[in-house]
Amino acid sequence: MNLSIQSKLPNVGTTIFTVMSALAVKHNAINLGQGFPDFPMDEKLTQLVNEAMNKGQNQYVHMCGLPLLRERIAEKVNEAYQSKINPETDITVTPGGTYAIYTAFTTILQPGDEVILFEPAYDSYIPNIEINGAIAVPIALEYPDYKINWEKVREKISPKTKAIIINTPHNPSGSLLTHEDMIQLADIVSNTNIFIISDEVYEHLIFEGKEHCSVLKYPELFSRSFVCYSFGKVYHCTGWKMGYCIAPEALMKEFRKVHQFNVFTCNAPMQYAIADFMLEKEHYLNLGKFLQNKRDYFADLMKQTPFEPLPSFGSYFQLYSYKNISTESESDFAIKLTQEAGVASIPVSAFYKTPIDNKVLRFCFAKNESTLTAAVDRLVAYFNK
Ligand code: GLN
Repeated sequence: MNLSIQSKLPNVGTTIFTVMSALAVKHNAINLGQGFPDFPMDEKLTQLVNEAMNKGQNQYVHMCGLPLLRERIAEKVNEAYQSKINPETDITVTPGGTYAIYTAFTTILQPGDEVILFEPAYDSYIPNIEINGAIAVPIALEYPDYKINWEKVREKISPKTKAIIINTPHNPSGSLLTHEDMIQLADIVSNTNIFIISDEVYEHLIFEGKEHCSVLKYPELFSRSFVCYSFGKVYHCTGWKMGYCIAPEALMKEFRKVHQFNVFTCNAPMQYAIADFMLEKEHYLNLGKFLQNKRDYFADLMKQTPFEPLPSFGSYFQLYSYKNISTESESDFAIKLTQEAGVASIPVSAFYKTPIDNKVLRFCFAKNESTLTAAVDRLVAYFNK
């Protein structure tokens, strides 16, 4: 008997988020690596979940998501993005944004298809593409602003290009796509059969009053798009693994074929609870300011260290350059800081297939002020040794 598996992902190890979180635990480090808040979520939302469970709302809900939740999502996005999303045909509730992205890829990709993506890229994209037998075509964002060079995109389009995946606000850099970017994208894909996957999981985590350029605002782009969202990021409950995908009816019909034989349907009590809680609009309307304050609080503290900040306009994250501190690789330096300074971060090189080492680390500032203070105190002590 030879039970060895011919790996579908021969080049893939364990995701960097799990690796760095485990290292943080091992060395008792403060974890500013993996993106998750350490402050409590709104008690009203947890109460609503408890009520749903106690009321017996514990059985399968509709395969595509609780109808009331889909209605609330449609109301919200149609108001926020002036779209015309139909809750019955265009929305599917998913166990998180990452699942929504995987399902979108699996719905459209055939072996040999090419997918254009921008690096640094969230680390699930390339494995999602490759497990479907498709080919990832990475394009580097321009350092240090992490902007898309659209000329390069035009050069990489081929007859095999099946999709382009975009991400705004961008993980890990916190950069944003602008209206001009969306116009460029629309122009490039017009008269092609290219699909768009739009990762918008940080949609409300946006600073300085800047605009979220959702694909939903651009009907011609939306007509070819799967747009992926996360409740975890909006309601501070990443561990609930709840999100959703929005796509035009014909695309969503195929997405649901994949979804129904994978998770089939998502956690029922949380869907009842979120459907009620979505009426509390102030929560997400105030989210940008709430996280901007954290970004600024952290940035102020970090001035005591030799790290140099790169701009962040959205997401949970801020990149810091250490080029004046060390010549070590990002990975080595992130590991060393975890072990020796007691602060975990994420090496940005983990978001590249093509090795690029700009000497930058990603820090998650979605934390209590006390956590951020303690982390920076440790860094200051370490650099003053
Ligand atoms: N999205 C989170 C991050 O970028 C991590 C999610 C995960 O661990 N898979 O940190």
